[in-house]
Amino acid sequence: MKAVVLTDPSKLEVRDVEKPSTSEGEALIRVTHSGICGTDTKIFSGGIPTPHPLIMGHEMSGVLEEGSSADGTKPGDRVLVDPVTFCGECAICKKGQTNLCINGELLGRDIDGGFAEYCVAPSQNIYHLPDDIDDVQAPLIQVLTTVLHAFNQAGVVDGDIVAILGLGVTGLMQVQLAKALGASKVICVSRNAHKRGLAEKFGADVSVTHGEEAKKVVMDMTDGIGADMVIESVGHLSILAEAIDLARTGGKIVPFGIYAADEGKLPFYEFYFKELAIINARAAKGEDFIKGIELVRSGAVDLGPLITHQVPFTDLAEAIRLLIEPSDERLKIILDH
Ligand SMILES: [Zn+2]
Ligand SMILES: [Zn+2]
Repeated sequence: MKAVVLTDPSKLEVRDVEKPSTSEGEALIRVTHSGICGTDTKIFSGGIPTPHPLIMGHEMSGVLEEGSSADGTKPGDRVLVDPVTFCGECAICKKGQTNLCINGELLGRDIDGGFAEYCVAPSQNIYHLPDDIDDVQAPLIQVLTTVLHAFNQAGVVDGDIVAILGLGVTGLMQVQLAKALGASKVICVSRNAHKRGLAEKFGADVSVTHGEEAKKVVMDMTDGIGADMVIESVGHLSILAEAIDLARTGGKIVPFGIYAADEGKLPFYEFYFKELAIINARAAKGEDFIKGIELVRSGAVDLGPLITHQVPFTDLAEAIRLLIEPSDERLKIILDH
């Protein structure tokens, strides 16, 4: 089969490799579409250490060729892959936190993933896709599950005022989910006017730039106390500091961005003084896949406008270059297989 292989950091080759075979409890998927994200760019560059050679790719959908799934999917059915494997037997899995399994691996990072014609995944990681879910949008449901898991961790309460800092693909999903889960007001903050416009189309009550404007709007809309929940979706400590400033006393912060810094400046005293709950989330659980598929099927979350580019999967190197380049309008790049 054809695959794009990362032979060394920053070196991709389109190669003919052996089609993977399945063992008991595994499924073979003919990949039809995949998505690339920031994690892939870090795996590509070597910023996230991985074995080589490696087939990257952890956001993929396709057709089940061999094997089965936990939900009774049959060969020929369209499926979505949960790329986080779990053993189901370790102490952490037994506590229900399968997304954090100590024996877990990520397809496309620790083992071969989806940037190929076929991939193998455990049957328990395969989810049936209903007919009314668009092929091209399906890989984005994996991203949506990570947002859903963060919202489950944070426990959005009906009537909450939620501020979202950063309007990339995940920020624009958070706007829609916050509304779907009952937030009374959603305030979006981004320096990018195009993405602020999209956030308003997705139901944001107001969208503003960072800094003084954000502070004024949040205080005006909350009778001067601050937002119940602030999500940082950029991954910069300066924006995390802004999130801490915009949260109300007794409020919640969700640091959804991933921070590479191991030291930096934050208003640490506010953690105590405001009694802030800092809620982290990593990957997603099986239940998030079932709910994510349903949210998209029912139209509560619209993934279509989040896709701005579609290229053949063999052009992965070019797609990664595109993803790294700064752009005000680019959102998700989907690969056709
Ligand atoms: Zn991803
Ligand atoms: Zn486990």
